Amino acid sequence: MQYIWSMEISGISSVIIFIFWGLVAAALLFAAVTSFREGETMPGRKLLAASGVALIVALTLGYVDFPGKMVLAGVFVIVMMAGVYLFFRNPLSGPTGQGTPRLNVDEADTMFARMELLAGSPEFESYYADNPGKAREDARARSLPGLLSAGSLYHNPVLFQETDVNFGLIKYLRQANKKLSETDYDPGSRGGKGTRDTDPVWLSRYLKKRAVQLGAHSAGITRIHDYHLYTRRGRGEARGRPVKMLHTHAIAFTVEMDFDSVRTAPAAPVTLESSRQYLNSATLALELAGLLQRLGYAARAHIDGDYELICPLVARDAGLGEIGRMGVLMTPRLGPRVRIAVVTTDAPLLADMYKPDPTMIEFCRICKKCADCCPGKSIPQGDMEEAGGVMRWKIDAESCYRYWCIAGTDCGRCMAVCPFSHPDNVMHNVIRRFIRRSGLMVKLALAGDDLLYGRRPKPTPPSEE
Ligand code: SF4
Ligand code: SF4
Repeated sequence: MQYIWSMEISGISSVIIFIFWGLVAAALLFAAVTSFREGETMPGRKLLAASGVALIVALTLGYVDFPGKMVLAGVFVIVMMAGVYLFFRNPLSGPTGQGTPRLNVDEADTMFARMELLAGSPEFESYYADNPGKAREDARARSLPGLLSAGSLYHNPVLFQETDVNFGLIKYLRQANKKLSETDYDPGSRGGKGTRDTDPVWLSRYLKKRAVQLGAHSAGITRIHDYHLYTRRGRGEARGRPVKMLHTHAIAFTVEMDFDSVRTAPAAPVTLESSRQYLNSATLALELAGLLQRLGYAARAHIDGDYELICPLVARDAGLGEIGRMGVLMTPRLGPRVRIAVVTTDAPLLADMYKPDPTMIEFCRICKKCADCCPGKSIPQGDMEEAGGVMRWKIDAESCYRYWCIAGTDCGRCMAVCPFSHPDNVMHNVIRRFIRRSGLMVKLALAGDDLLYGRRPKPTPPSEE
């Protein structure tokens, strides 16, 4: 009787061990296949080898009897139950320490605005007379080859030309946006068609759904707050104009940057991809702004080179993500691998909620991969610091832009190495789901990313085609 009982115990523990290690082997095999399909050959090989090891463990531990086998099987049952519990539990929530900023940003102080200043022009003289501290930094940047220039490190005669074409097209869209903005408060010029009586709940849903149908990855709505706005415009014809926002709501949306182009960063394909997504997002924003005007509402698109507000903050408050170590928006499913555009309007839309994500901030706190890999040494290694009334990481925009002027591209190495930038597929989304539910998973996921992809992954060479 005792013999039969011990045989049964041994049988049950063998089955549990088979199931546990069989599941581990299957998950690793699935991850290996996904990695190969993503073009990640080395991680794919490592995962395939790990899957083989898991299978051997399953067979060995399953068939061989040894003392304590039932205890071990019990441990595996607990681990499986913990996995199921973690998968279905609610995401961790709570403050991220970032809160509501008291920002007061003049667009003229941004690197793009400063680099637009023509040496010797009255604007140039006046800006550096007011900001002598910035003159030396900017002179250094101006002495370098420059964005899309022939003498730059990643010069590519074809891709740079195509990038320039895209930025040229965006320039046309800025003109279209100007016309759209000028008609903003003149009901007659909208053809008198709009009646301003579209149901706000329906309209909010429609605008977000339409943005995604037109190619956005995510879309959200927020009320506009003062800290979203630049105090003054700093670029193009609008330079020096105070920002006076009469709209009440903003629709923010993200567009995905192609994964294969991003992982070549800082080579030319990443900049071409940036220009394409700025163009795509600008077209989309203009379409939505135009539609709102036809419905009778005031509306304006905020597109590359023509912003009245700080897009990452607007997108964060519209519930699209968090602001991470790189100082940009980190979305839940694509991390920083997005571009953002915004439409502002006086339509009384339904605002979404900012969803603080403490696990993403915790991940950034311990990860630091972008800081380790940044060729400009522009991303801080330390903890968040107080800036503009909130705790945040603040990158060194000057040294980042200087590196762009050496590379000839907008670099994007930080975006390429970020563990949140992996493709939006089942494997990575399951990991992202676990990360949002457990501090331990944050640490395990980071260790796994380092093990599979390396602490300082090398850029993928651009395709020759
Ligand atoms: S690389 Fe790491 S530290 Fe940098 S933004 Fe991504 S998760 Fe945060
Ligand atoms: S774009 Fe390049 S230089 Fe700038 S912060 Fe990212 S990695 Fe550093």
